[in-house]
Amino acid sequence: MGRVAELGSLGVVARMLCENCHKNEATCHVCTVVGDVSQSRDLCSECYEASSPEAREFSAAQHDARCEYCGGQPCGGGTDFLAMATGVQKLKFMCMPCSMEHNRFVQEQLRDDALELSQPEQLAMLRKIDRHADEHMRQWISERGPLS
Ligand SMILES: [Zn+2]
Ligand SMILES: [Zn+2]
Repeated sequence: MGRVAELGSLGVVARMLCENCHKNEATCHVCTVVGDVSQSRDLCSECYEASSPEAREFSAAQHDARCEYCGGQPCGGGTDFLAMATGVQKLKFMCMPCSMEHNRFVQEQLRDDALELSQPEQLAMLRKIDRHADEHMRQWISERGPLS
């Protein structure tokens, strides 16, 4: 997105409008394959959400999301990397203070020799860290108390 705007300001690429509503700037470039025909569409985020059940689900989840640990306002949000690494696909949202603490804890737990481990060993380690991080966060919140 940033790149297009940058190029646009240099006059190389014109701002692209959503091909569905012709109103908003197209920020989502969607490739759909139907049969052997692949089609690329440039949509604004509104039309993209309307056209894709997954996108809608994600933005709905983001809309209602609360911080997993303290119930605060989530920042950014999305699938956390441990969940991706361990194959457990779930959306996890954290507020800024919690995600910083979570991240700090995980970094601390990651062993330097992790890269030398075999993949199953890495997975086992990540699963363990994920569980420990959960426990640590609950502990951390109960010591810290609710923010607001
Ligand atoms: Zn649109
Ligand atoms: Zn939180």
